[in-house]
Amino acid sequence: MKPLRALVVEDSEDDTELLLRELKRGGYEPTHARVDTSEAMSATLAARAWDIVFSDFTMPHFNAFDALALLRGTGLDIPFIIVSGTIGEDRAVIAMKAGAHDYILKGNLKRLVPAVERELREAHVRKERRMAEETIRRLAYTDPVTELPNRARFLEQAQQAAEAARDKGHPLALLLMDLERFRDVNDTLGHARGDVLLQQVGTRLQGALFAPDTVARLGGDEFGILLPRLTATDDVKLVIKKLQDFLQAPFMIDGIPIAVEASIGVALAPDHAADAETMLQRADIAMYRAKQMATGYAIYTPEYDRHNPERLGLMAELRDAIERDQLLLHFQPKVEIGTGQVVGTEALVRWQHPRLGLLTPDKFIETAEHTGLITLLTRWVLTDALNHCQGARREGIRLRVSVNLSARSLHDPHLPEMVKNALKTTGAEAHQLILEITESAIVLDPKRAEETLATLSRMGVWLSIDDFGTGYTSLASLRHLPVNEVKIDKSFVGGMLANKSDAMIVRSVIELGHNLGLRIVAEGVETKAMLDALAALGCDEAQGYFISKPQACGPLKNWLPTSSWKIGSVA
Ligand code: C2E
Ligand code: MG
Ligand code: MG
Repeated sequence: MKPLRALVVEDSEDDTELLLRELKRGGYEPTHARVDTSEAMSATLAARAWDIVFSDFTMPHFNAFDALALLRGTGLDIPFIIVSGTIGEDRAVIAMKAGAHDYILKGNLKRLVPAVERELREAHVRKERRMAEETIRRLAYTDPVTELPNRARFLEQAQQAAEAARDKGHPLALLLMDLERFRDVNDTLGHARGDVLLQQVGTRLQGALFAPDTVARLGGDEFGILLPRLTATDDVKLVIKKLQDFLQAPFMIDGIPIAVEASIGVALAPDHAADAETMLQRADIAMYRAKQMATGYAIYTPEYDRHNPERLGLMAELRDAIERDQLLLHFQPKVEIGTGQVVGTEALVRWQHPRLGLLTPDKFIETAEHTGLITLLTRWVLTDALNHCQGARREGIRLRVSVNLSARSLHDPHLPEMVKNALKTTGAEAHQLILEITESAIVLDPKRAEETLATLSRMGVWLSIDDFGTGYTSLASLRHLPVNEVKIDKSFVGGMLANKSDAMIVRSVIELGHNLGLRIVAEGVETKAMLDALAALGCDEAQGYFISKPQACGPLKNWLPTSSWKIGSVA
């Protein structure tokens, strides 16, 4: 017998008995309360937890519509089934539209148990989905190791603080802190102990500060600190002294004392920058300086920029590389899971460096973003990708091409024009192009992002949210954006077979995304097992090493006809 807590909204004792008897016959062991006024129903809902509500349609002092409205008002998500002597089809439809889950005629109680089973199951699915949304939000905001805010969250907080500082006219300090020789700890004592050290460092840093100061873990051994309540910029030195004092005593990990030294870089608003990204970048330069000079900390000055020859050198070369066509694109196929057709490719940029060999984007994109070279790079990638796409088209291979945009490009007011020009010079049509944007790009300046995306969408270009789940937009917030596709980040796809919460996230992104009319792509599909699992969940497209690694255009064209995938003809 399955226990069932049933709230029965009903004026007749006899009918209630019949209902309970039917439930028992169906294998339930109901505990119930019967109410027939709105006051009694409110009190009973508040007093205990219920699995289900059955409601008569009309009663002398109450009716199903009012009962339904009352239930909704509590915010509880409990199945609501109308059980009534008579109810016309039209009224039944109105009741269902008002949110009732089903209606059963008293003369036809054999429908009751199947309806109860179905509604309980669906309520359970809804609950899981809510939990998954909650998990996505939490994961997206926090660093799993230290449970501190993560980089994305920190950037958001810093941006808000920078704006508040500007409005109120008081200074803001952003500190970037990096632990010296942390890698040695990881290598010699193992990652688990490395994680414990990071947690303890996080705790001590928090202990040294007061709200509204915030500490975040930005990744690796990097922490970020915001000091929004400085009275004078010189106070930052006092705080740094305090932080250093708090880190002074060795950390004890499994009985092993570990001394930690930190290098801190500081950038101030409004003196050094007005926005979070620039502050972070300048704090980074200052930190690099502190490391070089072994001074413990350094406060940014523009002069430091010039003392950073390594980075600036590579950037000077990148400008050259773009102009001399040393960049090249690799393409990775995207497959429609249902049909097994290749429907598009993603263009991924590479730099054939004369000394350093083939460089992947992680080596140069970020710095390109910081120096403004990203505009040049994006234009090059767009044009080259569309040229290849057109070339393939002439050979009868009609595929869409996806191009990645960096956050900087999205906020460039000339972006739509750049896209338009690239389409024009290559002769490609807008529907051949998908632009991939990351969530952080949208969050940094949602208003501007929305406008740019709307313009691009009106041109007929498809828009895709890349690495979904690693930022902190919810799917619901995408509702307002003209987005066509969501790519689930490879970390979740990679974890979905072994890890329940990853699996839940993948499943709910697919479900919720479909509800919003989005196409869902899984990236980082490395095995057949992953592909099968995604197929079972109804995921639309897959991309990953299991299908193909990114390859240059020539090899890819040779691969296409020999692979087990069909060539679609979509764009
Ligand atoms: P992304 O857009 O998420 O691209 C997917 C990355 O995952 C690529 O790395 C790809 O090689 C890799 N990948 C593909 N399949 C698998 C798999 O099955 N398993 C695993 N572990 N990885 C897989 P790549 O080429 O190093 O690119 C890294 C990132 O650099 C891209 O991430 C994208 O954000 C950025 N990027 C690449 N090209 C451009 C570009 O032209 N402009 C801009 N702004 N960013 C670019
Ligand atoms: Mg991408
Ligand atoms: Mg991605």
